[in-house]
Amino acid sequence: MKIAFLGMGIMGRAMAENLLTAGHELVVWNRTLERCRSLQEKGAVIAATPAAAVIAADITIAMLADPEAALDVVFSENGVLEVIGSGKSYIDMSTVDPETAAAIGSEIEAAGGRFLEAPVSGSKKPAEDGTLAILAAGDKSLYDEALPLFDILGKKHLYLGEVGQGAAMKLLVNMTMGGMMTLLCEALALGKRCDLQFEDILEVFAAGAIANPMFAMKGPAIAADEHPVNFPLKHMQKDLRLAIAMGDEKLQPMQSVATVNELFKQALAADCGELDFSAVGKTIGV
Ligand code: NAP
Repeated sequence: MKIAFLGMGIMGRAMAENLLTAGHELVVWNRTLERCRSLQEKGAVIAATPAAAVIAADITIAMLADPEAALDVVFSENGVLEVIGSGKSYIDMSTVDPETAAAIGSEIEAAGGRFLEAPVSGSKKPAEDGTLAILAAGDKSLYDEALPLFDILGKKHLYLGEVGQGAAMKLLVNMTMGGMMTLLCEALALGKRCDLQFEDILEVFAAGAIANPMFAMKGPAIAADEHPVNFPLKHMQKDLRLAIAMGDEKLQPMQSVATVNELFKQALAADCGELDFSAVGKTIGV
């Protein structure tokens, strides 16, 4: 199957490489062309525009930063919408809000194409290892056809129904993850002030009911004040913002997430946006 992949960021590049390694013909596009080079060296063909990528492929997959990027790539000049139509399919795996997913989906379907939203749970390493969880919603026939691709990219996939449900599910995951991260950082910061050792705190946390893979993976790096970027802090703040907007829309109180968002805004203002989201700990005083 001929696949186009739009967005060669941390996630997109790793996911596209897995598709290439699995033997798919791959066309790639990225706003910053240079980021396509490593995949070109492995056999991918670079497209000059999103439209050119769509023309060359049966299924186009996008993995873009945020709602603005996802909308730009579809609606701008030389964008996806100019050429999508019957026989063409578009799968947007970016983390966006339900309204953005619905806006993209309805226009693509109106043009005759098929649309699936499929945001992912899992970070850089699961993207590299092909062990993401894929939260899909939209055209069921496209979901069924895309299953062999999802098996390459992930270890789990769910079909959640109408477009928007995938985005909503993904935002639930990330608001929870943002909250867990700030609590871990506050515990480490308070522990420091109580003269407790970071290693001891992490060992105790790992031994009880609050043990979880994220604390185990990020804890030692936070303790060492190292924040190699897996999930950029700017994207976590975007997801908190989108989750809060979803709470507004549904009249769901979001007191905790709102507080967590304030901490991430503070970290963004302190120039931590390009670091891993664990760098919120700097603002908290770890
Ligand atoms: P990233 O490394 O920052 O990559 C973002 C991508 O979006 C780049 O290809 C960037 O192009 C492109 N982009 C940004 N603005 C654009 C615009 N206006 N028009 C066209 N392209 C634009 O981000 P990432 O970590 O790969 O994340 C991608 C998506 O997956 C995000 O929605 C994120 O929330 C989600 N996600 C990330 C993780 C993670 O752990 N990293 C996990 C799950 C989900 P340039 O190269 O030109 O800047």
